Amino acid sequence: MDRLTADFERTFGAAPTGVWSAPGRVNLIGEHTDYNGGLCLPIALPQRTYAAVSPRDDSVLRMASAQQEGLVEVSLGEISPERPGGWSAYVAGVLWALAKDGLTVGGLDVLVDSTVPLGAGLSSSAALECAVAAAASDLFALGLLESAEGRARLAARCVEAENTIAGAPTGGMDQSASLLCDERSALLLDCRSGDTRQVPFDLGGAGHVLLVTDTRAEHALVDGQYAARREACEQAARELGVDTLREIDPSELDDALGRLDSDEVRRRVRHVVTEIERVEAAVRALEADDLAEVGRLFDASHASLRDDYEVSCEELDVATETARAHGALGARMTGGGFGGSCIAIVPAGVADAVASAIEAAFADAGFTAPQSFTVTASGPAHRDA
Ligand code: ADP
Ligand code: MG
Repeated sequence: MDRLTADFERTFGAAPTGVWSAPGRVNLIGEHTDYNGGLCLPIALPQRTYAAVSPRDDSVLRMASAQQEGLVEVSLGEISPERPGGWSAYVAGVLWALAKDGLTVGGLDVLVDSTVPLGAGLSSSAALECAVAAAASDLFALGLLESAEGRARLAARCVEAENTIAGAPTGGMDQSASLLCDERSALLLDCRSGDTRQVPFDLGGAGHVLLVTDTRAEHALVDGQYAARREACEQAARELGVDTLREIDPSELDDALGRLDSDEVRRRVRHVVTEIERVEAAVRALEADDLAEVGRLFDASHASLRDDYEVSCEELDVATETARAHGALGARMTGGGFGGSCIAIVPAGVADAVASAIEAAFADAGFTAPQSFTVTASGPAHRDA
């Protein structure tokens, strides 16, 4: 925080008015369900993105990041999918979306720094948007951090920023997690109703840890694949005469699959419907302290994402298989897929051994060295200073 404040002063010539931060997230279970009106269950990470910010008396936005080169400048009125482009679209997009919502915002000087790894499927993009949204809410006296409704509204604006200005067609989970997750809890998010519920999540009490492994795998075509999965789900919903695949009750799944012609689309639908059911089962298991069952659900989720939804990759399969073979109760890919991170529930005493085993398996396979760390469920976006 001291370094960020000093860097802000060097960049913009005066100390920042304040510092705000927002966490990255991992989704425990419920993958590729958010854009189908389904359920997901993210936790906020201890890794956060920090934004040192001062308001300006004009409508200029100046942005810099410790993770990127250069200073980017744009007028609020010129923000569009083309401008400012690049990483700063995630910052500018938030101001654009707040203004579009009828809220009065002005120019800002913004310097960000982050401990969330970029592009690891841990949602550095939402952490960036939500840190900026938190700052804007306080500096323009919008009061949106003070209530769950206000935070949900900020999350919706951040989604618009990412979809429209940054051009990434993501669902709503990441921003809701970053703004609404509580410490020691997972957030059960109903993406149809917008309802949220905190579910106790504290593996430490049970002698276990959540091990996150950033595979550092980079695969081309990720964005196109994401859009293609969304399109397949929307097409299936149209064919089945429902608004979203959430409407398909698990008891009606076989009947629904029988009405679809394409084997590929059938498998996509089967993933979504069974994954939503697994989220409900995982919540029941967590509330009953049945970690072994949560682990089995992790494994089933991974198999469904690998075989039916086809969004896994070799690195994610090797990481999850190795974790299981070395004592994990369960392991799955988390995030959109084709790289990103794997999560595993591991007895605390073997976490280091599991991480080492994954590293060794990656070396054997000739993959880039992965990065593993344990995480606890952390707090949402807030003002730090
Ligand atoms: P993820 O959200 O999983 O980390 P994304 O591709 O959605 O991956 O978002 C990563 C992008 O978000 C980066 O390429 C960059 O444009 C932007 N970004 C995230 N964090 C920062 C940061 N601290 N500084 C600058 N840009 C960032
Ligand atoms: Mg992202």
